[in-house]
Amino acid sequence: MSNEIAVKKTMSLKTKPEDSELVFGEVFTDHMFVMDYSPDKGWHNPRIEPYGPFYLDPSTMVFHYGQAIFEGIKAYKGINGKILLFRPQKYISRLNSSARRLCIPEVEPELILSAIKKLINIDRDWVPSNRGTALYIRPAIIATDPYLGVRPSHTYIFFIILSPVGAYYTEGFKPVRILVTDKYVRAVPGGVGAAKTPGNYAASLLAAEEARKMGYTQVLWLDGVHHKFVEEVGTMNIFFRIGDEVITPPLEGTILAGVTRDSVLILLKEWGIAVSERRISIDEVFAAGERDSLLEVFGTGTAAVISPVSELSYKDRTITINDGQVGELSKRLFEEIVSLQYGEKKDPFGWIVEID
Ligand SMILES: *Cc1c(COP(=O)(O)O)cnc(C)c1O
Repeated sequence: MSNEIAVKKTMSLKTKPEDSELVFGEVFTDHMFVMDYSPDKGWHNPRIEPYGPFYLDPSTMVFHYGQAIFEGIKAYKGINGKILLFRPQKYISRLNSSARRLCIPEVEPELILSAIKKLINIDRDWVPSNRGTALYIRPAIIATDPYLGVRPSHTYIFFIILSPVGAYYTEGFKPVRILVTDKYVRAVPGGVGAAKTPGNYAASLLAAEEARKMGYTQVLWLDGVHHKFVEEVGTMNIFFRIGDEVITPPLEGTILAGVTRDSVLILLKEWGIAVSERRISIDEVFAAGERDSLLEVFGTGTAAVISPVSELSYKDRTITINDGQVGELSKRLFEEIVSLQYGEKKDPFGWIVEID
């Protein structure tokens, strides 16, 4: 297959929003990357074209059975004016691991990275520059056979769209209140919990809506078998600082292998802080909270980087963490990762990939 990416530019550029007007996922840039898959040609016809809708038959498989995967990556305007990607290879390899789980043909990682770079280069004026803002990169693959039988599709579309996004924290680093649900579960062993696949998010909506109505920002999921061990929160991984130990649930196939989670683990080890990837029960969390040794709780994800948790509610018990204030480790991790992402600090890990 030829990896040469064809380019067809738009005739009419859109108006770009001001950095201060940006929210999440509402506006899209002028171009998109698209590539097709068929059994005889494999992945073929990689191209960049004007951003626009797809024309798909109502019987298209993805509409009915959800055979699809996606990723969420960010590009940042570095302080040297260069556009910087944070650990793109790690997101790309996760896309391929989601692909394997969903019977979707894998895509050559180098091709994905060069598609991302080329697309961003063409739409480079869309990368916002205020600290906290970024260009969100959404690669996705959808099943496109017009067919109603249940089986893996024979054809697919891979696309990448770009969206400038605002700072997650507009009024400072804000802790969130979390509801621990024992009514719904997100994933079970052997299921698709470790894949970034749309069905996981559709299945989470009702629990999140019920939590929101009760005044909580997110749901903390417990394991699907015992309803006992902590899994993750909303679209973030979760960390607990209990006494001298920082704990996060292990990657056993039911949670997403977050890139931010991995970065936090590496930084904590680098700083000489004791970290454990181990099962932690909700009872252990609440017991620590009740004897005042639950020092910090925070979520990790590409959108927020670090999302401190001020309150956890489970059945009829509620605990407030660190008097509702952001903990020092949460702050330190946030500052460290953000300063690496914007190139303010020298990157000793090889995490930053410059575009150009
Ligand atoms: C994307 C995602 C995460 C966080 O992953 P990052 O790579 O850190 O962005 C965690 N949990 C779920 C369910 C997710 O979809």
